[in-house]
Amino acid sequence: MSGGLDSTLAVKLMLDQGIDVEAVNFVSPFCLCRKGGCGAPKVAKNLSIPLKTIRVGEEYLRIVRKPRFGYGKNMNPCVDCRIFMLKKAKKYAEETGAQFIITGEVLGQRPMSQHGRTLGLIEEKARLKGKILRPLSAKLLPKSEAEEKGLVNRETLLSIEGRSRKKQIRLAEEMNVTGYSCPGGGCLLTYKEFAAKLRDLFENKRRASLKDVELLKVGRHFRFEKNKIIVGRNEIENKLLTRMKMANDYCFEAQNCGSPITLLQGPKTRNSIEKAAELTAYYSDKKQGKVQVKFGKQNLEKPLATRIPQKEEVEQLRIT
Ligand code: SF4
Repeated sequence: MSGGLDSTLAVKLMLDQGIDVEAVNFVSPFCLCRKGGCGAPKVAKNLSIPLKTIRVGEEYLRIVRKPRFGYGKNMNPCVDCRIFMLKKAKKYAEETGAQFIITGEVLGQRPMSQHGRTLGLIEEKARLKGKILRPLSAKLLPKSEAEEKGLVNRETLLSIEGRSRKKQIRLAEEMNVTGYSCPGGGCLLTYKEFAAKLRDLFENKRRASLKDVELLKVGRHFRFEKNKIIVGRNEIENKLLTRMKMANDYCFEAQNCGSPITLLQGPKTRNSIEKAAELTAYYSDKKQGKVQVKFGKQNLEKPLATRIPQKEEVEQLRIT
């Protein structure tokens, strides 16, 4: 349960049949929900059901890096992601003695992972053939084991299909379901700008870590040969970059004017240091003449007078 509209409705339909439900919410490094507070705890509280949060990290990152079934429009490996999460849900179901798994998936809603054939493939690869019930589209899908065994009443399940959420919104009103969030899904992997940065990371770093992924969420990102240069966009990001800086990164700041904090990663060649200083100067408050920049690994101790580059030069380096 993401806490979004569909999973919330799926749970409510089960509760209305008198079925005990425990919600499982996955938190990945690519969840956007954390920004505005994930909806799952609120929804679970509203529905008075227990909530299990499963955090996925390095293992999930490996799936994102090399998905067996490829990516969607951006860097979203939806099929592999669903298989991965359902395997985890299966393990948890075995631990708790749950009889079947329900999801809020809607047939045909998502181009990559919610078509009939793909739903079957995901079930098969997660070793959950027949064990997943999708209450919102159940009447359009083969009977699940829970329906076959009479654990749920198929008659009260739905036949929603397609991308429009109008039916779900109407249903939520009728069923007095409130408090759901992330209506369009809150996954950074589906965002073009983030996908470009992640692709660049994978292409340039053999062992990308979760810390690298966290850094992708902060600042403007530039690629200069083997170097990554990250420039803070505001005071909050400047503080974050200072805190998230890795041991070998260099930090840059323009002197005597408003300035971003810039991080330089990769080989500290003369060219790369000059480029990081130039980008710092470009985003500082100084608009002409030479800019005094200080940089260093631990402290900003080394001075450098640098020019302000042209916009085109900056754009050429931007990771897009
Ligand atoms: S949108 Fe993101 S979280 Fe959702 S299935 Fe695709 S990769 Fe997974």
